[in-house]
Amino acid sequence: MLKDIQVARSCTIRDALARLDRTGHGLLLLVSAEGCFERTVTDGDLRRLMLGNASLESTLTQLPQRASVTVKVGSYTRQQALALMGQHSIHHIPVLDDSGSVAGLLERKELDEQILLSTPHLGEFEREFVEEAFRTNWIAPLGPHVDAFERELAAEVGVKHAAAVSSGTAAIHLALRLLDVGPGDRVFCSALTFVATANPILYQGAEPVFIDSEPFSWNMSPLALERALAESKAQGRLPKAVIVVSLYGQSADMDPLLELCDAYGVPVVEDSAESLGASYKQRPSGSMGRMGIFSFNGNKIITTSGGGMLVSDDESLIKKARFLATQAREPVPHYEHTTVGYNYRMSNILAGVGRGQLRVLKDRVQARRRVFERYRDGLKHVTAIEWMDEPAWSYSNRWLSTGIIRSERTRVTSQDLMQRLMAERIEARPVWKPMQLQPVFAQAAYYSHEPQHSVSAHLFESGFCLPSGSNMTEAQQDRVIAVLSDLFAKG
Ligand SMILES: *Cc1c(COP(=O)(O)O)cnc(C)c1O
Repeated sequence: MLKDIQVARSCTIRDALARLDRTGHGLLLLVSAEGCFERTVTDGDLRRLMLGNASLESTLTQLPQRASVTVKVGSYTRQQALALMGQHSIHHIPVLDDSGSVAGLLERKELDEQILLSTPHLGEFEREFVEEAFRTNWIAPLGPHVDAFERELAAEVGVKHAAAVSSGTAAIHLALRLLDVGPGDRVFCSALTFVATANPILYQGAEPVFIDSEPFSWNMSPLALERALAESKAQGRLPKAVIVVSLYGQSADMDPLLELCDAYGVPVVEDSAESLGASYKQRPSGSMGRMGIFSFNGNKIITTSGGGMLVSDDESLIKKARFLATQAREPVPHYEHTTVGYNYRMSNILAGVGRGQLRVLKDRVQARRRVFERYRDGLKHVTAIEWMDEPAWSYSNRWLSTGIIRSERTRVTSQDLMQRLMAERIEARPVWKPMQLQPVFAQAAYYSHEPQHSVSAHLFESGFCLPSGSNMTEAQQDRVIAVLSDLFAKG
């Protein structure tokens, strides 16, 4: 392609126009006899020659010399190249090597392409289900898709019952209500998580206590939980619930956590918002606690644009959840209410989207795992990167490909990494900022993995999340790999 748009001064205007027409880039690159880049040539340049005294058979010899904007190989980021294009109102910039020859051509529409962290990825059935909702005029909260989505998700996760709600946060809130969490109560919660896990504790006026991660799964540390439970018991203030998060698609080490909670008689709520499709010792994530929750927010492994699910083997809990989620309306015609409820139910339209998405869940898990494996293989030589491990008991959905930077092996920090990716129009994120470091939870108690070692704080400082969407192309993944290879080679 580069060959096709390079012309010498001996080229005729006719030939130049034909090449412009054939190549469709809107410009040619004029090169000297020695192969050095001279200037760009556009339709307009040729038109001006013709309006002078040139004919179609004249050559480009009369083309005036002019300095064009160029960049040197490897000397620019996407963001810088785009800024240069904006500044000069141009859509192309030739890339030159040290000898002045053309090594490439930057195109605005190609540079503009952004790689996002995790975007929705629709399958082929969603539209059909949504159209069915329209056709049958079920444009309401509740309806046949909601019932079916609940059944299908419960079957997928291996639980008996499920209630579809408006968000994962709503599902956590309902779980706490169902466990009778109220003012003065304590709730233990994974420290390393998204704030949505912990906010419902405050909605209920209860007191969060944050439990650190262990270094292998990044999820709740049994050691920290054990100390927290023992101390709380001694104070006569055992928590009403323990919310165990399965982060970035990887289940927590559930057996020791469940054993501890059982021993103290405290129910477990599994926040599996990020780990639908993952499993722990063959048991699906979200199916192991008293209740489990999932999220179908736009960035999750499957999405309904917004939505959530509360699951449990206990039918009475799920029935009560549905009741609370529909304004706690008593089953009588005259709008009777004996307790406070919420407007938390999922719409029939969105449940239709969810049903379609559920059908491709396994594909999505495999695609995300493949993204992770390509990063790991493509960056094998970068010893400073330590990927989030997958312990033998875990089957992760690799919702986000995530890792930490070993600071003793490189000068590159996680901030450098994110800045560099951003400059290349690639979205990356730090690991969740742990709850004990959040100003909103400044008062909350915190139990670290070991008394002097806070694992979640370390993961936050050194961690990063890479674009991981199941609809990423291999070329996009290669772009991420190339940028990181370069960054660590220089750092
Ligand atoms: C996304 C998420 C939630 C909240 O789900 P929403 O549907 O966005 O309300 C809760 N916990 C974790 C760990 C999440 O990642």
